[in-house]
Amino acid sequence: MRLILLGPPGAGKGTQAKLLAHKHGIPQLSTGDMLRAAVAQATEVGKRAKAVMDAGQLVSDEIVNQIVSDRIDEPDCARGFILDGYPRTVPQAKALGQMLKDKGLRLDAVIELKVDEAALVRRMENRVAETTASGGQVRSDDNPEAFRKRLVEYREKTAPLSEYYAGTGELRVVNGMENVDAVTAEIERILIPA
Ligand code: AMP
Repeated sequence: MRLILLGPPGAGKGTQAKLLAHKHGIPQLSTGDMLRAAVAQATEVGKRAKAVMDAGQLVSDEIVNQIVSDRIDEPDCARGFILDGYPRTVPQAKALGQMLKDKGLRLDAVIELKVDEAALVRRMENRVAETTASGGQVRSDDNPEAFRKRLVEYREKTAPLSEYYAGTGELRVVNGMENVDAVTAEIERILIPA
């Protein structure tokens, strides 16, 4: 099963991707996690991406397209994968389409988690509080200023993907304001034919 999860920061893409990945025995491919790992390891990509990520802006299409293409070639992706946070721009979506075609693969669904924007900042604040309470490391872009910038980037560059995938006939929309289990159940209903 090959799936894209779309939605603004804080919509619950990561949570749903983890649950679905576990259930279906396929990996969650989060470009955000991959980039954070590159930053932590201070690789060339990590060095180029760090300041851009901390400012809540998008890393270049060229970098993320390459990361995803390499990751999809790894053996654990043979049975499928869940893309979480990629594509994030129309050029990335086009690059992904070409990449999959070149690899002889196709998508099963593109699922958008629709959420009320007013809830997003609250969700980010809850995530920070939970991470802090559990002694975890808070993301350097989970602060009000960077988060606002991430929302602007989403509206300008990522939201147009809904129209793009509506045009290809692949888009399915789910109400992301429901509780976690209800959202998972709604996604599973969409995936039954896949
Ligand atoms: P995320 O964990 O998905 O919220 O991503 C955190 C940050 O990583 C984003 O704010 C961007 O700076 C960067 N990032 C993650 N995925 C992408 C992508 N597909 N394109 C560009 N930048 C990305």
